Amino acid sequence: MLIKNDPDIINSFLEDYSNIKGGFCDEVMFPETEEELSSALVDCSKAGIPVTISGAGTGVTGGRIPFGGKVISLAKLNRIKYIKPLKNGGAETLVGAGVVLEDLLGLAQSKGFFYPPGPTEKTSFIGGNAATSASGAGSFKYGTIRDFVLGLRVLLADGEILELERGKYIAKKRQLKLATVSGKTITLKLPEYVMPKVKNASGYYVKDDMDAVDLFIGGEGTLGVISEIKLRLLNKPEGILACYAFFSDEKDAVEFVYNAKEKGADHLNAIDALSLEYMDRHALEFLSRKHKNIPPNAKAAVYFEQEFSNGTESGIIDSWVALITKCHSEPANTWFAQTAKDKEKLAEIRHDLPDMVNEYLKKNNFSKVGTDIAVECKDLSLMLGYYNSTLTEANLSYLIFGHIGESHMHVNILPKDEAEHKRATEVYEILVKKAISLGGTPSAEHGIGKTKHKYLEMLYGEEGVSEMVRLKKQLDPYSILGLDNLFPKELLI
Ligand SMILES: Cc1cc2nc3c(=O)[nH]c(=O)nc-3n(C[C@H](O)[C@H](O)[C@H](O)COP(=O)(O)OP(=O)(O)OC[C@H]3O[C@@H](n4cnc5c(N)ncnc54)[C@H](O)[C@@H]3O)c2cc1C
Repeated sequence: MLIKNDPDIINSFLEDYSNIKGGFCDEVMFPETEEELSSALVDCSKAGIPVTISGAGTGVTGGRIPFGGKVISLAKLNRIKYIKPLKNGGAETLVGAGVVLEDLLGLAQSKGFFYPPGPTEKTSFIGGNAATSASGAGSFKYGTIRDFVLGLRVLLADGEILELERGKYIAKKRQLKLATVSGKTITLKLPEYVMPKVKNASGYYVKDDMDAVDLFIGGEGTLGVISEIKLRLLNKPEGILACYAFFSDEKDAVEFVYNAKEKGADHLNAIDALSLEYMDRHALEFLSRKHKNIPPNAKAAVYFEQEFSNGTESGIIDSWVALITKCHSEPANTWFAQTAKDKEKLAEIRHDLPDMVNEYLKKNNFSKVGTDIAVECKDLSLMLGYYNSTLTEANLSYLIFGHIGESHMHVNILPKDEAEHKRATEVYEILVKKAISLGGTPSAEHGIGKTKHKYLEMLYGEEGVSEMVRLKKQLDPYSILGLDNLFPKELLI
């Protein structure tokens, strides 16, 4: 197995997009087979050496940053083993945890298939996506990665292998019985907390009568190492329409979204959005530093996509134009992508925003203060109003963008100095408290990692976190995996 301990390589594993500092480790291991991965875990377990699992390092909560011990990088488990068309349409694919999302998207597309759940960051690994329960723009219509995972291979801390297929291991109420490939049986007592009824990536996924696959999705490298993922693919649509609609009032943009979600209204009956993404006025101002053509008086924008087949495109465009007009945006101020190249350009603008925020923070040496809150659809306007009033009162620069179709938007605060950074983290907590009081979640897709422990405890209380600790210890009795992810490692002692 390739093992690296030269400082340059090690340093490249001590960062992600959380911008947290101080990580350190002895070496980075690059297993090329499941056997090598298993024996590395056995050795570390026996010696009590902490192991941090690394995907592509695009996470934003410090999950792959080690604070001691060794790193296991999944980069070499990067084979797409097959893409197999299914009789009833779509396909099944089996991929190594180190497959880059962009590579899977490209190959699937070339074979006539489509994988919509995201995330926006296409350089991430599928293993990292599964470990963080990632989602993206297409999740509005099709759900998160959870809705596409058919099975997982997971290596436990002691090197034992779990082969999980949907339907194979189902919990009875909150008890889950598993058998490893070698025949060892494990009985897990699952936590009793109730998850929020919104898209959620905060802590372990637990429910009565749940599938074991769902427990390991979103485990953030604390329960086991995902080595392989079996995914469902959809048939590639004949085309995807993409558009930016700009609004001179934020309320009109929100009205537009509510209408777009309400399919079936007569004159809008062709609308069936694949994605609905939002940018507030600050986000547009920030973006216009790079994209000079953004309409200067725009106060909000909604980016949307919709699949079409031959012959349906013009009816769909008519419906969207009717809605755009109804919500007081000007069709002349609307960017419809006509070609695949245009569409790529529009998607790039959406991707540039988090990238530019991350660049700003890196340049100014601040850790990320970006929310990942989701609330119920009925609370969207209320929450948006609350963000604006709270942040304006705190006199902080910020911008809001993200998955408005799922009432899941990222507030990114842009501090200018240390005092503002401190104030930003205080305000962040106020926003999370409000969301939780409404039944929302502090993290809908980025996970808790090392930066959001406090918010996980706010969501489930001390008892909820203790239940997670107990669950982790049942699967990782030596407490070596993903230390400080989800909760402080001191709780494991
Ligand atoms: C510009 C930008 C845009 C983004 N947009 C989105 C978005 O739209 N939606 C979204 O959900 N996220 C988004 N992200 C965050 C990030 O891309 C996702 O969280 C992604 O899923 C992380 O994958 P990764 O391979 O980079 O994982 P890493 O950052 O390497 O690791 C993330 C966590 O998963 C664990 N892990 C990684 N691989 C495995 C494995 N095989 N087994 C067990 N544990 C493992 C790690 O220990 C760590 O805790 C964005 C990030 C950036 C920088």
